[in-house]
Formats: sequence, C-alpha cells, structure tokens
Amino acid sequence: MATRPKDNLGKMACPCCGEPVSVKKSRETGTLTYACQDADCEATGYASAHTAAARRWLANITPPKGATQAPPKEPEPAPKPQAAPGAAKKPATKVEAKPPKQTPPAAPTPPAPEKKGGFQWKF
Ligand SMILES: [Zn+2]
Repeated sequence: MATRPKDNLGKMACPCCGEPVSVKKSRETGTLTYACQDADCEATGYASAHTAAARRWLANITPPKGATQAPPKEPEPAPKPQAAPGAAKKPATKVEAKPPKQTPPAAPTPPAPEKKGGFQWKF
C-alpha cells in the first residue's frame, strides 16, 4: 500500500456543480485536492499550497463536524496593526471568570425645551 497521507480539511462547494466536495491536503506537499462525487460532474482539481486558489478554497471550506483540528491559517497579506503601542503582550497566566458587564440602558435625554414665539421675559 503506497497511499500518500492526506488530511481531510472539510467540504466546500464544487466549483463546477456546487455540490459539496471533500477537500484534502497532502501532508507531503500541502497541495489541496478535491474530487467531485457527483455522477454528472466528477470534476477534480488541485491548488498548490500558498496560492490564491488555495486560500480561496480554505476560506470556503466548512470543517467536518466534530473536528478538533482547525485548518491551518494562511498568513494575511496585509496585516492590520491593532495593538496599541505599549500593550503588546499580556501574560495569559490567569483566567478569571468575570461576569459579563452589564451596561445600564442609556438614559433618555430630556427633551430640550423648545423655544417658540421668541423671547419670554420673566421678572
Ligand atoms: Zn461537481
């Protein structure tokens, strides 16, 4: 048996007929492959690792139920700087269960007194 090891990443819609097809990833090369099981389609395809096609496939894949292994994430081409300078890393030693913050409902703003009819002198 000379089967090449492949990981089943999940299912995506067949690019040809739209039926769900299993996408597998070669452990040797990282190439993604699929083979449509629809009798009227039977399309096959592959996408080399780290290509736009592979990223598109990964984005469309629905992981199989019960899978604990998430598909590997491709590096984003344009990372957005989100962390503020100075708050780079937080030590994740403690995990405290905090109750969810309950924001009080926004107090209704009192209606602004409408000024009608010009000035009213009160003395
Ligand atoms: Zn198909």
